[in-house]
Formats: sequence, structure tokens, C-alpha cells
Amino acid sequence: MVLSGDASLLKGKVIAVLGYGNQGEAQAKVLRDSGLEVIVGNVNDEYRRRAERDGFRVYDIPEAASRADIIMVLLPDEVQPLVFNDVVKAVGDRDAVIDFASGYNVAFGLIRPPDRYDVVMVAPRMIGAGILELHSKGMGYPVLIGVANDHSGRAWDYAVAIAAGIGAIGRPGGIGVKVTFKQEAFIDLLDEHTNWPLILASFMAFFDVATEKYGVPPEAVLLEMYASGEMAEVASRMASLGAFEQLRLHSTTSQYGQLSRAFKFYDMVRRVVEDEASQIWLGDFAREWTLEQLAGKPKFNALWDAARGSDMARGEDGLFRLLGRR
Ligand code: NDP
Repeated sequence: MVLSGDASLLKGKVIAVLGYGNQGEAQAKVLRDSGLEVIVGNVNDEYRRRAERDGFRVYDIPEAASRADIIMVLLPDEVQPLVFNDVVKAVGDRDAVIDFASGYNVAFGLIRPPDRYDVVMVAPRMIGAGILELHSKGMGYPVLIGVANDHSGRAWDYAVAIAAGIGAIGRPGGIGVKVTFKQEAFIDLLDEHTNWPLILASFMAFFDVATEKYGVPPEAVLLEMYASGEMAEVASRMASLGAFEQLRLHSTTSQYGQLSRAFKFYDMVRRVVEDEASQIWLGDFAREWTLEQLAGKPKFNALWDAARGSDMARGEDGLFRLLGRR
């Protein structure tokens, strides 16, 4: 279901943007340009000074929350559970709308907001820099909108008003799709656990086979796979023309190769997707990642070491130095 509306419900309310990072900076600036009263909550560091330079009144996170009617939690997902109790204490018993840009913490029980608040989600499908660029052109972008708790009876109206206030909906290119917090977190993680790692795994295997077994120069392999930038062009055409329709821009040899292999690999990949989907939906991944963080991220660091130490990473370093990118 597609949702529509404007930001008028937010007029006269104080909006606290907690975290002046990728999303926080972009959303705060667009909300202000929408004629709304925005304050920022941030720890005392360079991000805070940047928010001050950008003309915002900046407070410590609990102080900002205590001054606001609408509280936008735009801190990194792994930080939110650490500061959320302070936010709740600061807001107290009065009415407030708490907005998240990702469903993860609420969906998997890492944050349990009290029933006395409206708890909404407006999750951009756009990076912060993209939000600002589109805003400067009067364009919108996709958001997934959800409500976890409708205390006031107007939580959906607030969520839609936030989506309009941050420049997502009500503009060309914008669309707001109704989902649950869990559905948002699920598809976000499933994308991260299937599409991207499958591409990365394919790159690594392709690199090893082509260079080790067939003697192809690493530079040629890397340029073929992604270093030329052609892949980014293809991804852009997928968004504008469609995943299949953009194939018409490739040779018929390429079209035949891509389609025949996509159908050939489907069953194999579907098994991977089914397995990952079930682990995410049941909360197994959220538990795994929480335990990994509590242990000081040993596996995460080892994975990075393995990636950096791979032949592909070394090949990339050589090519990127030649190209002046490093
Ligand atoms: P960022 O990593 O850009 O950081 C946001 C802010 O949090 C920064 O101001 C940062 O300041 C602050 N911060 C970091 N650590 C702490 C801490 N321990 N205590 C207090 N403040 C801290 O976050 P994003 O903007 O990427 O993500 C914000 C939310 O938006 C998340 O829920 C994310 O899932 C969601 N989202 C992000 C998208 C993106 O494009 N990045 C897209 C869609 C949704 P400092 O580092 O200086 O401490």
C-alpha cells in the first residue's frame, strides 16, 4: 500500500534529530527547509560542531529529546540500544513521537519503546548525500513507512508527515510504502545477506579462477568486473529501465549468456536465499551480531583481515595505484 500526505501536522512541533551523521544531517536540513523547527542532539565531537556551523541549536542527546515533541533516532543501529533508556528518561511521561530510520532494533527486541509513545518508522531507501542532492532538485525518493505503536491514534499521520517533511514523498520520484518494522528490517538484511555477498563471492571466485588457472592479468579481470565503472552504469539502468529491460542495451550474446545462466543458477541461489531469510526472520542473525559486538567483534575483524589479505584486494591495490585512485 502506498501512503501520501504532507508535513502540516508537524508545524508548531519541536523536532529533535538525534545524531548528525549521514541521515541526521540530511534529514535535519530538509526538515528545516520544509519550514519546521529542528534541533539536534549529538555527542560533543566534530559532528556536533558541524551541526552548529550549519546553524542548528545542538544539545546533548537526552537534553535534545527532553525539548522535543518528535524525536528522530538517527544514530547508528548498534548505538541506539545503548542510549535509548536515557532518551526515554529524558522524555518522561509526556506525549511524544519516536521515529526510527530502520526497523532493526524494534523488530528484533533490542529496543522496547514504552507504550505511552507513538513509535513510527520512516526508512529512506537513499543515502544522506542522495537525499540532499534530490532535495536541491525538488525531487523525492522512496521510503518504507511503519508504525510499531499507535498511542495517540494519529501515529500513521505523523509517520506520513515525517516522510513528507524529510522530502521523500509528495515530490516527483518519491513514494512511501507501508510495511511493518520487521518487514523493513528483514528485506534490508536479506539484501545484505544475499545479493551483495553473492556478487562479492562471485567476484572473488572469478578473480581467482581467471588469474590462477587462465593467466589473465589481474588488471584486466578487475576492469571487466567492476573497476571500469560499467557495473554502476548497469545498476543505474536497472533502476530506470528495469532489471530485464536494461539487458536490451547489451549484445545479444551477452543477453543470451546472462538470461540462460540466471535461470540455471536460480534453484541453487534460491536455497541460499531461503536459508538466510529464515535465519533473519527468526532473529538468529540479530542474536549472532549482538553476541559478536559483545565479544569485541573478533570474527568481524578476522573477516576484514581475510578480505584485505586476498589476492583480489592486492590486485585491486596495484590497479588503483596505476589509475591514481590510491
Ligand atoms: P552514522 O554512522 O552516520 O552516525 C549517526 C550519528 O551518530 C553521528 O552523528 C555519530 O556521531 C553519532 N554516534 C556514533 N556513535 C555514537 C555513540 N556511541 N553515542 C552517541 N552518538 C553516536 O549513522 P547513519 O546516518 O548511517 O544511520 C542512522 C540511522 O539511519 C540508522 O538507523 C540506519 O540504519 C538508518 N539508515 C541509514 C542509511 C544511510 O544511508 N546511512 C539509509 C537508511 C537508513 P559520532 O560518530 O561523531 O559519534
